[in-house]
Amino acid sequence: MKNSLSILTVPAFDDNYLWLIHNGKQAYAVDPGDATPILDALAAHNLSLCGILLTHHHADHIGGVATLLAHAKEKNSGTNLPKNLPVYGPTKDVIPSVTEKLGQSDQIYLEELDLYLDIIDVPGHTLGHIAYYASHQKWLFCGDTLFAGGCGRLFEGTPAQMLASLDKLAALPEDTLIYCAHEYTISNLRFALAVDGGNIALRQRMMDDSEKREQNIPTVPSRISMEKRTNPFMRSRDGAIAKHLLEAGKLGSEHDALQVFTALREWKNNFR
Ligand SMILES: [Zn+2]
Repeated sequence: MKNSLSILTVPAFDDNYLWLIHNGKQAYAVDPGDATPILDALAAHNLSLCGILLTHHHADHIGGVATLLAHAKEKNSGTNLPKNLPVYGPTKDVIPSVTEKLGQSDQIYLEELDLYLDIIDVPGHTLGHIAYYASHQKWLFCGDTLFAGGCGRLFEGTPAQMLASLDKLAALPEDTLIYCAHEYTISNLRFALAVDGGNIALRQRMMDDSEKREQNIPTVPSRISMEKRTNPFMRSRDGAIAKHLLEAGKLGSEHDALQVFTALREWKNNFR
């Protein structure tokens, strides 16, 4: 029963979202940077943890793994539930706790949830960063690659890698829901308005998402269609963005999409 699955939003730290994919009984945690909020959510919803999915090696995405594994070991001892939970993660990022290493075009099947996930390599933020895509449900778990209204910083990869990664995600169905790992939306949209202020859809989005944040409602998940219309990093090929960068002196008159993307990313790094 694939449509009986749901996703719990688990806020952590200042602005992280951890995710629990569950069927009302069993759950998989995505990027559990902290164990406590995950354990609290599992208890509150009467869920047992079956495994962990990691997108990349940063501490705010993996910090809770050891505690969750120890907790499951203790809880499941003396039952027929597995004592050692599987930890899925990227082949190319070094994460010692990972038991199932994944890369581009791998597919995994989470039996407890009857859920298939396709793996997409999305280097840029880290070199080994992966995303998980549930093609039936149209859910994307993309860590710190694509954000609502923005994209991750390039800590390890090049602008060309990140642009190619975003292009792969842009090719997913328009109604794909994007479960990214941070609530950065308003600050991203503030930058977006600075480089794409004439974009009516973007202005509307800023109003809608600001209203959500005022009521403490998450702006995540977003949708691919919304990102393609309003996220400047997904719009590097749109003439309006290049024109604005040119006028702001951030871009030469001869430019391609990669130069536009690079200029955007550099400007955003220093944008307040
Ligand atoms: Zn990160």
